[in-house]
Amino acid sequence: MTEDNYTVERRLMVDRQIAARGVSDPRVLAAMKKVPRHRFIPSHLWDQAYGDYPLPIGEDQTISQPYIVALMTELLELKETDRVLEIGTGSGYQAAILAELAAQVYTIDRVETLLARAEQLLAALGYTNIHTRVGDGTLGWPEEMPYEAIIVTAGTPQVPRPLTEQLALGGRLVVPVGDTWSQTLTCVRKTKDGLKFEYHGGCRFVRLIGKYGWEEGAWT
Ligand code: SAH
Repeated sequence: MTEDNYTVERRLMVDRQIAARGVSDPRVLAAMKKVPRHRFIPSHLWDQAYGDYPLPIGEDQTISQPYIVALMTELLELKETDRVLEIGTGSGYQAAILAELAAQVYTIDRVETLLARAEQLLAALGYTNIHTRVGDGTLGWPEEMPYEAIIVTAGTPQVPRPLTEQLALGGRLVVPVGDTWSQTLTCVRKTKDGLKFEYHGGCRFVRLIGKYGWEEGAWT
């Protein structure tokens, strides 16, 4: 397939899978049309890059279904001046979408090989506003706090407390909370009266493994 074919596939992906299901923020739709999703997955799967499902990216991890990426991004309500923290860099695809919409993106993964690959690709694609770190993202990235938006792209039994602490007043945290098999997309807003929770349906993510997520090796 040529780059032109991929551009057409991306437009169809946005129209049929994302806008058709109710994601309407024009900036989010434009970012989903722009970022070359196929580059973030292994090349033998490029012909499936714009399908309506998650795909493997190595190390037992997955790149999320396009609709879920778009929905979570819309829930973050990003402004051009916002600073965003992502937990779970994976392929780097979600980070690229965030980088199209916000000023600075800070992203953490616990798996060094995935992070190294993502860093290389994001640099090759010309992103200069994405900052990466290896480690346990359930602890957040306190040196750069506060964040107007935080996104967790792995499933957790509870909202990691360091992340709500590192959220700016008025900030939004989007995180899949539940058991290993299914989670509820949860949006936490920090207001002057405390944390407000909203729920946005079911989803299924790989596990967030760390101090405030799942224990390594746990199987619930
Ligand atoms: N956002 C990614 C998909 C993430 S898959 C994308 O767009 O491709 C989930 C990722 O979370 C995996 O890469 C996994 O290594 C990472 N992860 C799991 N627990 C973590 C933790 N405590 N801190 C940081 N990353 C973690």
